[in-house]
Amino acid sequence: MTKWIEKYNGLSMLGVERTRDYRGYVVRVQGTEGDLPERWFTYAYDQEDRHTYWIGMTNSEDDAKAVLERMLSEGWLCEVYVSEHAGHCKEQAVLVKHTWYERKSERLRTLLCERHGHIFPEWEDMTIREYVNTYNGLEQDAPILGKRL
Ligand SMILES: [Zn+2]
Repeated sequence: MTKWIEKYNGLSMLGVERTRDYRGYVVRVQGTEGDLPERWFTYAYDQEDRHTYWIGMTNSEDDAKAVLERMLSEGWLCEVYVSEHAGHCKEQAVLVKHTWYERKSERLRTLLCERHGHIFPEWEDMTIREYVNTYNGLEQDAPILGKRL
């Protein structure tokens, strides 16, 4: 089981860097001085591509760690809202669809499973790996309003 290692106050790595168990890190980006609230960024490390990418911003170290732990245990989940009863789709996402070709204010993106992969046919699609390698970030449930149901 990979463990968190505190490098210093404000930076912890999951696993040992440059080994097969290294998975990413959390870092405090705000909140040590002045009266700005604490903020943490979470980064995932892709062992296959040796690529580090951003996956979330939270208000505490524990929450930042939970973002990476959740992603490692559950993978990327489809973000489609199914129904009031079923909530959001719980299937593994296999692709990202987005409208990054639009003007900045009109850009959208969503994670989709195989079953929902056909929706938004006019949007551009990429595998998750292509997407994070291109845009350096992906935040689970970012397009969902409020919480995942
Ligand atoms: Zn789905």
